[in-house]
Amino acid sequence: MFSYRHGFHAGNHADVFKHLVLVATLRHLLAKDAPLWVIDTHSGAGLYRLDGDYAGTSGEAQDGILKLVDAVGAHNEIDGKALAPALADYLQQVRDFNRPGDWRVYPGSPFIAQKLLRSEVRDKLKLFELHPSDSKALAGNVAQLNAGRQVSVAREDGFEALRALLPPPSRRALVLVDPSYEIKSDYGKVLATLRDSLQRFATGCYAVWYPVIPRPEAHELPRKLRTLANQLHKPWLHATFSIGQRAAAAGEAAGARPGLTASGMFLVNPPHTLKPALEAALPQLLQVLGRGRGQGQLIEAGGA
Ligand code: SAM
Repeated sequence: MFSYRHGFHAGNHADVFKHLVLVATLRHLLAKDAPLWVIDTHSGAGLYRLDGDYAGTSGEAQDGILKLVDAVGAHNEIDGKALAPALADYLQQVRDFNRPGDWRVYPGSPFIAQKLLRSEVRDKLKLFELHPSDSKALAGNVAQLNAGRQVSVAREDGFEALRALLPPPSRRALVLVDPSYEIKSDYGKVLATLRDSLQRFATGCYAVWYPVIPRPEAHELPRKLRTLANQLHKPWLHATFSIGQRAAAAGEAAGARPGLTASGMFLVNPPHTLKPALEAALPQLLQVLGRGRGQGQLIEAGGA
């Protein structure tokens, strides 16, 4: 356990997709005056260097945020077409952490959320991270924000900690469940957590990220989440985003492992604005990040 470090993956296609969904969801939830809690059960380190050792070793941001930035250029266009509003919004959030033309930092979900939260209406951000180094880095990064009591960081199991927080006093929350799925039991824990959380707090907005990989548990998770939402008569939205496999480079072994090429987001009680926002944004994102065989996107919704 604990070999996973998000720093190797920060800013990759899965982060771009997940954080695009996160920004679009938060935008809607923050349009109401009442305080919102954002609970990030698996927070990571919060901020990542795109020019540091981890990102340099993996090169994953090259197929993600850096490719998007290059394609979009200074005019915020793709092939002469203006960016879809949700994509432009997400990109601007990330841009704000960097100097123009100098991409060094990628914000993780805690920093993307915190930037959008409102201090005047007492929104709160509750962060959980178990990895010893990443939780220390997260605490240090959050301290720099001087956000006071708006943000709390705990080195605790996010699945467990969530139980004590629901329902939040404001009765409004977005819960992001984004484990590393390093251990197979994470898939079952995600489902059990959603079931328990929906009993405690039926009207919360829940967003689960998962990898699309050839593993039965990964394949079954969205189906099980959909069944749960349908049984409870809750609206849901499921989106997947796949960049596909690039053609093997000269000298690369045939059949070399492609790494993660696709991921999914499953939301219970999603904002009604999310589906149209993604329908406009994901095809544009795919146009830029798509690499070939297997590329595609899916958006489906249902429930009450
Ligand atoms: N949400 C982050 C973002 O979007 O920037 C990325 C999170 S990363 C995919 C998953 C994180 O969960 C890792 O940093 C890992 O150390 C941490 N983790 C694993 N099991 C955990 C648990 N039970 N509770 C809290 N954190 C955990």
